[in-house]
Amino acid sequence: MSDEILKMFKASGAIKEGHFLLNSGLHSPVYWEKFRILQYPHYTSRLCQIIVEHFKGQKVDLVAGPATGGIILAFETARQMGVRSIFAERVRDVRIFRRDFEIAPGEHVLIVDDILTTGGSIRETIDAVDSLGGLVIGIGVLINRSPKEIDLGVPLFSCLNISTTVYLPEECPLCAANIPLLKPGGQS
Ligand SMILES: [Zn+2]
Repeated sequence: MSDEILKMFKASGAIKEGHFLLNSGLHSPVYWEKFRILQYPHYTSRLCQIIVEHFKGQKVDLVAGPATGGIILAFETARQMGVRSIFAERVRDVRIFRRDFEIAPGEHVLIVDDILTTGGSIRETIDAVDSLGGLVIGIGVLINRSPKEIDLGVPLFSCLNISTTVYLPEECPLCAANIPLLKPGGQS
């Protein structure tokens, strides 16, 4: 299955090489432009199907994702599960559910997102669900590119695990080589 997933990312041109400033503040020679793949409904649908299959048999009342990529993934995952979808947005330093979204106390929430690097946006989304009294039952991501194992306190499923090199800015050899740092578009 990893081969199939990797092929989809390659075919959509989602894998970029260079010197990139990631949303996490880390630098990397590779950037995954998630929107290159999310623009194709058939790829997005297939990736969400893999997440849906993984969580089959578990009670899920709604799917939540962090904006921006998570909006699309939450919608498609929820569509396949026959439940509703909501998204959390960053307002100043916190991520919250706006748009009059509600979670009833005890509702089972599946969180989905595109690319996990440090888990920051997912942790913020978990906090947003907690604050409304929902119960996060699991997390599904397209790609886990975290350089180390991340414990989010609930089961984490990723369609694809990749180990991409990331550097702290002060230790980045690409910076040392004076290669221009790019802040890719589409980062949320
Ligand atoms: Zn650098």
